[in-house]
Amino acid sequence: MTDVPDQPVRITARPVMDELPAYRAGRAASDELYKLSSNENPHPPLPGVIDAAAAELARVNRYPDPGCGRLLDALAEHFDLSPDHFVAGTGSVAVLFSMLSAYCSAGDEVVFAWRSFEAYPIAVRLTDATPVMVPLAADGRHDLDAMADAITDRTKIVIVCTPNNPTGPAVSHDDLTAFLDRVPERVMVVIDEAYAEFVEQRSAARGFELAEQRRNAVVLRTFSKAYGLAGLRIGYAIAPIHVAQTIRKAVPPFSVTDIAQAAAVASLRSRDELQARVAAVVGERTRVVDALRAQGWRLPDSQGNFVWLALGDDSVGFAEACAPLTVRAFDGEGVRVSIGSPEANDRLLDLAARWLTDH
Ligand SMILES: *Cc1c(COP(=O)(O)O)cnc(C)c1O
Repeated sequence: MTDVPDQPVRITARPVMDELPAYRAGRAASDELYKLSSNENPHPPLPGVIDAAAAELARVNRYPDPGCGRLLDALAEHFDLSPDHFVAGTGSVAVLFSMLSAYCSAGDEVVFAWRSFEAYPIAVRLTDATPVMVPLAADGRHDLDAMADAITDRTKIVIVCTPNNPTGPAVSHDDLTAFLDRVPERVMVVIDEAYAEFVEQRSAARGFELAEQRRNAVVLRTFSKAYGLAGLRIGYAIAPIHVAQTIRKAVPPFSVTDIAQAAAVASLRSRDELQARVAAVVGERTRVVDALRAQGWRLPDSQGNFVWLALGDDSVGFAEACAPLTVRAFDGEGVRVSIGSPEANDRLLDLAARWLTDH
């Protein structure tokens, strides 16, 4: 042992760091099959994707393509929009962090619904901006009127999560259009569409159309959910060109690997296979929702790859009773359960039925 003095040294971080939740390692599922806590896709990556990614492994002595140019070109073709409108990052959460760090500082306010995605308050507070959390309506939907009312002179960004994680409902296109009409153009509206591919509701918001039409709308999309690439970390924003340019400056250099980029580009080519997998997940979602409702559960509309059980104070108890399934409990609020394989979903239905008889 070297002679290190006993005296603990505390290097002072920014005050906000004491208020952020400490990182909690997710409880490992006893079996991957039963991990229904992170809204992952139970299907493996799309055909050709692993080969495309593996081919890049031979070149990892080189830094990746800094601009993610191949992906931006592929997205430009996919959406028929110039590549200047896209920004890639290590997951859409990372793009959101970069965007907030580019636009927000102390004194600014960021409005979003709550309960919504857990990363939002953390991302906002890291910029020293103030999160303004607007309660969801009773059915787990965004209360867009209340969100519009919450906008002040200090508001920089409003985040709309559709479908909402963890409750499930999507915002309708008409409601989001009316909302955008109420938001001043100096305020950016971020439409987080992480679960867009799973949406069945015809009237649901089409964020891309709005991003194309408006000067203050940004859409976030990811390869983590429907495309099944959560472990490779790749997502993107669709934004007005000057916004995209600004966000790019805040993205850490070389963060997206060529492995992830190649996987994403190959994934975009498999439209039919993607659709088949999404249809399988949506089919299972319908089966699970119908069965739970038949058991007597009241569920909000679910447009993502998960369901929400508003168990209130029973949430943690229910999650514990779910073993060996791992599900996501929000203490005092509810439990989010991802749609998994048919077998895992069957386990959930059994456990949920037993819970109702025991309680
Ligand atoms: C999963 C998820 C994301 C995407 O996360 P990645 O960083 O792309 O893996 C973004 N927003 C919401 C609401 C999510 O649930």
